[in-house]
Amino acid sequence: MPITTIRSLPPTPKRTHYDAVIVGARCAGASTALLLARAGLKVLSIDRRPYGSDTLSTHALMRPAVLQLSRWGLLEPLLRAGTPLIEATTFHYGDEEITIPLKAGPDLPGLIAPRRTVLDRILVDAARKAGAEFLHDMAVADLFADVRGRVRGVEIRAAGRDVLQLSADIVIGADGIGSLVAKRSNARALRQGTVSAAHVYGYAPVEPGADYHWYFRDGIAGSLIPTNDGLACIVASVPTRLFDEHFRRDHGRARMEVLGALSPALAEQAGRAPKDVRLQAFRGVPGYLRQAHGPGWALVGDAGFFRDPITSHGISDALRDAESLARAIIDGSPLAFEAYRQERNLFANQILDTTDAIAGFDWTLAKLGERHRRFSAVLKAEVQMLAGQALPARRGAPPSQAATYRAPANQDKAPATAGSSLYRNRTGA
Ligand SMILES: Cc1cc2nc3c(=O)[nH]c(=O)nc-3n(C[C@H](O)[C@H](O)[C@H](O)COP(=O)(O)OP(=O)(O)OC[C@H]3O[C@@H](n4cnc5c(N)ncnc54)[C@H](O)[C@@H]3O)c2cc1C
Repeated sequence: MPITTIRSLPPTPKRTHYDAVIVGARCAGASTALLLARAGLKVLSIDRRPYGSDTLSTHALMRPAVLQLSRWGLLEPLLRAGTPLIEATTFHYGDEEITIPLKAGPDLPGLIAPRRTVLDRILVDAARKAGAEFLHDMAVADLFADVRGRVRGVEIRAAGRDVLQLSADIVIGADGIGSLVAKRSNARALRQGTVSAAHVYGYAPVEPGADYHWYFRDGIAGSLIPTNDGLACIVASVPTRLFDEHFRRDHGRARMEVLGALSPALAEQAGRAPKDVRLQAFRGVPGYLRQAHGPGWALVGDAGFFRDPITSHGISDALRDAESLARAIIDGSPLAFEAYRQERNLFANQILDTTDAIAGFDWTLAKLGERHRRFSAVLKAEVQMLAGQALPARRGAPPSQAATYRAPANQDKAPATAGSSLYRNRTGA
């Protein structure tokens, strides 16, 4: 008897036009989808990776990210998922230890480092609950534009299907370092960093109640980041040059050498991992800042701004910029997009400067404390800015009401002839 394989068809978008289509559905994309959907916009977020999948990233959250998750009502679900609350950070400068307890408050009871399988899933779940649509396991192959070059939508190609065009008032690139949206929209490079560090990490059991630990000795660094399932993420960080020279052949051995040089106790902790534990390695990418938005498109998260992971700030940047971009899109005015650009660039430039000052490994231990204090001052300014802002919402409209926002006038008016029947021009231009 022949065996029949029943193949489920790929999911289909509910509409052909959205207020916003977001390429990427992780911390930048799912957060933006959440905030736009809560304001009543019709949003679709597309990711080529599966729902709830892991990605190449450690996941220590800094104060701004925890504050935002708390204000969005997602800290509770993250804690319920078994993410431990971290109450202090210990810096190890050589043999010297400095422990800094977190100044807790109602919206910031502690720090957290949820696995990406937990954080990204909870963001997607919350956005879905607010009405956002998601398509996972599906890649955006291209963007399309009108005759004046304004981005009008995306093309997706699902296995066994023809090209599907979806139009949108705005296409958001939340598609990470290799951003297709940045490439296709010719986003200008505003800054290009020169230094990069490599990070090699794996997981090992840790006692409950552990702090964040950051370790530094001349030319090397490491960290211990308590996370879900009674595990800590243990990272060895070195300049990319050193990685190329010493790590290529045997990541595991080179990582243990670095951890042992930083602290025998840290190496011993890493040694508690099962022998077959899989390590992840990132060779390093110099930081960059790209144009924040253009006609019919915007970038958020790593798609627009990357800084070395050594300061564990990428997820905080993604969440902050998601909130700021959502505010701009909901408002729709050129002024609101200008505010997004300015706010993103203000913080991105400071984060990039202070991160590169650490990722360059050109410090001595005596100078490093001062560099950390400069970075911490930026975090403090971010927390103050975020705490002082209302969450994105349409003026005076309850979230359940149908969206009547102005389509993002970001930058240029669509021509009267723009678009075929595919386009619904919400600007009335
Ligand atoms: C080794 C390492 C360690 C890190 N550690 C930390 C840390 O401790 N703390 C911290 O805050 N940050 C850390 N970061 C940074 C953090 O991972 C990023 O800043 C964050 O993931 C950016 O989120 P994002 O949503 O912008 O992009 P991503 O997380 O990269 O997500 C982009 C998504 O877009 C999807 N995509 C791309 N192209 C397409 C397409 N054409 N069609 C459909 N989908 C597409 C991808 O599948 C992906 O899922 C680390 C990064 C690295 C590399």
